[in-house]
This record gives sequence, C-alpha cells and structure tokens, in this order.
Amino acid sequence: MKGVVYRGPRDVRVEDVPDAKIDWPTDVLVRITSTNICGSDLHVYEGRTDLEPGMVIGHENLGQVIEVGSAVKRIKKGDWVCIPFNVACGYCRNCERGYTGFCLSMNPDPETAGAAYGYSGMGPYRGGQAELLTVPYGDFNCLRLHDDAEEKETDYVMLADIWPTGWHATELAGVKPGETVVVYGCGPVGLMAAYSAIVKGAAQVYIVDRHPDRLKLAESIGAIPIDDSRDDPVEAVMELTHGLGADRGCECVGWQAHDPQGHEHPNMTLNKLFKSVRATGGLGIVGVFTQDPKSPDPLLKEGEIALEYPVYFEKGLRMGSGQADVKRYNRYLRDLIHDDRAAPSFLVSHELPLDDAPDAYKHFDAREKGWTKVILHPGVRSERKARARQPEPASITKPARKTSKQAAGKS
Ligand code: NAD
Ligand code: ZN
Repeated sequence: MKGVVYRGPRDVRVEDVPDAKIDWPTDVLVRITSTNICGSDLHVYEGRTDLEPGMVIGHENLGQVIEVGSAVKRIKKGDWVCIPFNVACGYCRNCERGYTGFCLSMNPDPETAGAAYGYSGMGPYRGGQAELLTVPYGDFNCLRLHDDAEEKETDYVMLADIWPTGWHATELAGVKPGETVVVYGCGPVGLMAAYSAIVKGAAQVYIVDRHPDRLKLAESIGAIPIDDSRDDPVEAVMELTHGLGADRGCECVGWQAHDPQGHEHPNMTLNKLFKSVRATGGLGIVGVFTQDPKSPDPLLKEGEIALEYPVYFEKGLRMGSGQADVKRYNRYLRDLIHDDRAAPSFLVSHELPLDDAPDAYKHFDAREKGWTKVILHPGVRSERKARARQPEPASITKPARKTSKQAAGKS
C-alpha cells in the first residue's frame, strides 16, 4: 500500500510500504478515504520529536471497514467509521472512566499513559495517511457513522481529533451558556475550541492570533478576532469584558508559542491566559507542552516552563490539560453533524490526493495564507474527492432535517 512516511526533519515521502493487516482477532482493517494533516504532525515534520524515520504517520482517519478479526462483534465489513486518534484498550482503569487519552495498556512504555497512531512516543501503531489502517480493539475504537457518512465525510473526519480536542478545551475550562471565553491560537484546534464554545452557547468568544486569514475564518463563525501583532491581547480582553477578564480560557497553541516576530516563548500563552481570565475562572490547556531539546528556551530544554504562578494563585484559577479523550465526545458530536446542527468542515481549505502529501506538509507547516486544514484522500476515490477549495462560512445551527435518523440504531 501507499503511505506517508517520515524520513527526517521536513522530509516526508509517499512510499510503498507493507499492507496493514489483521494482526489480532480484535483488530479491524479500514480502507482509509480521508485523513487529515494535524498541527501535531508538524511537530514530527519539523523534527521536534524523536519519531524514528520510516514510520507511517497520520492520526485523523476515516474510512470503510474491509475486514474484521474473528473476535470483533459489533463492527462489520462495509461500515463507515471514524477512528479516534487515541489507541485505547477499553478495559483499563483509565479507559473505564472515559480517560481513553490516558489508556494504561496500549503504550509499551510503562511510564507513558496514552497511545496514538503514527506518533512519537505513542506506541508502535502505524498511521493512517495511507491506503489501509489496522485499528486495534476495533469494537471499542471505531466510531460507526450514519448513512450520510460519504456525503458528510469532510465533517465527520473532524471527529478523529480536531473537533473533540477543541471541545475538550472548552470542557476542561468549564464553558457554560452565556459565558465569555478567550481562545489563544486560531489554528484548527483553536478554531474548533471557539466553534465548540459557540455551539455550547457562549455569549462572546475572543480568539487571539496574528494570521488574518485564520482570524477571518473565526469571525465567520461569530468569534471576535484579536490580532496580537496589533493589539495587546490581555488589554483587548479586559476592555471587551469591562475590566473583569473572560470567564473561561482555552490554550490551543502549545510549547512553540511565539511572539508575532517569530521568537519562541513556551510560557507566553499560558501566562497571558492567566491574565486574561477573571478571578475563579477556568482554563483548558490542549496545546501540547513537552520537553524539547531543540527549544531556544533554556528552561524548556530541561523540561521546565516559567509560569507566573502567583497570578494563577491569587485569582483562584482552575486548569485542566492534556490529550483529548476523543471517545468521551465523538458519538455526540457525530450526531450534531448528522442532524445538521454543526458543520465543522468550515475550516477545511484543501482536499488533496495522498500523493500530494509532501507538498501539502510544506505549505501547511509554513502556515501559508489560506492553508487552514488539509484532508488527504488515499486510494481510487481521491480523483473524485481531491480539490482545493475556499472555506465557506460555517453554519452553526441549521434546522434539523425532517428525515428519520435511519442509522440511529447504530450507536
Ligand atoms: P497550528 O500550529 O496550525 O496552530 C497554532 C496557532 O497558534 C497558529 O495559527 C499560530 O499563529 C498561533 N500562535 C502561535 N503563537 C501564538 C501566541 N503567542 N498567541 C496566539 N496565537 C499564537 O496547530 P493546531 O493544529 O491548531 O494545534 C494547536 C496545538 O494543539 C498544537 O500544540 C497541537 O499539537 C495541539 N493538539 C493537541 C491535541 C490534544 O489532544 N491535546 C490534539 C491535537 C492537537
Ligand atoms: Zn491531530
């Protein structure tokens, strides 16, 4: 099969690799039709992780089941499924409580909770930027889609990671209807956090970045853009909230946070969040923070970040962080899409054949104007699907369709 293989910093290639197959009776084999490039893939692409060259990457995957192992009971050949980026067992202490991002069984490193496809330090699972993907514990890890799977494929593929991750940021922050929310970062994750806050009924959502195209997209869904190359974001939020600060804050940037001139400061967004959120407010941190020997920041080289903790303490803030537990939310978010209550594909800028992956990585990594989210389409359907497109303004709540939910029994 063809797969996107990491060969070294800024070097990914489409290569012939051994076919993915059923290795265990509990596996499901999926023919991938849509697979996104994620901001997290860029950490790998830039050589900021220690992924071994030769690995097939890609963890935001959707496709059709072509084979199931002998112990698979629920998922059937022919089902359309979206696969959470977390590889989880379903039976460990954490999975049982819904913390599938922190599964205790699937990562061979006993000191790491959580596993994922095609990612550094997340286990041996090959990624889905390929024609085929093996899904371990397929009954648990596959989200079955409704009969509009192909029609709404570009929406449903956002359920693998990016929408549940944005949703998770708002859950960790504790967003409630009528509240004000500030989001740092207007990449795909920040856009999905803003979208989630709006879907949940937030009164005002502010989003901070300096890419005009991304900020414009945020504005199209009803968020209030703050361009931090022009305005101090803390001052702007204070002004918009009558000096109180936002009720909730989401961090959707991560350790490569930088100033508008491009200098990295890993503590920048966290400290600004502390100052942008009101006393007793809540914070959801989903941007990735990790020790990075290549960071220009001497502290982060040692795995430390200088936080203005006194601000956090004095305000009595609360903070949640970490990988999103996709399975906690994906069933419900799927049904918002199915019932025309949400359409997260508004952020998709490019749909391309798998062969275009090396070029797509280059453009997306440079955060070039107009490159907000890329879907790759492997296989024969790519010709029909592949096209570059202009994002359309999002519809948050279209009226529910009258047709009966034929696939309702599938969940
Ligand atoms: P991205 O790189 O496309 O977007 C990040 C955005 O942050 C960019 O638009 C950039 O201009 C902006 N930014 C940089 N510094 C900033 C600053 N100081 N203030 C405001 N904005 C700033 O990436 P993405 O796909 O949106 O992902 C964002 C983060 O979320 C990454 O760290 C990614 O690894 C992480 N992530 C986490 C999970 C999870 O489960 N927790 C899942 C997916 C992605
Ligand atoms: Zn991702």
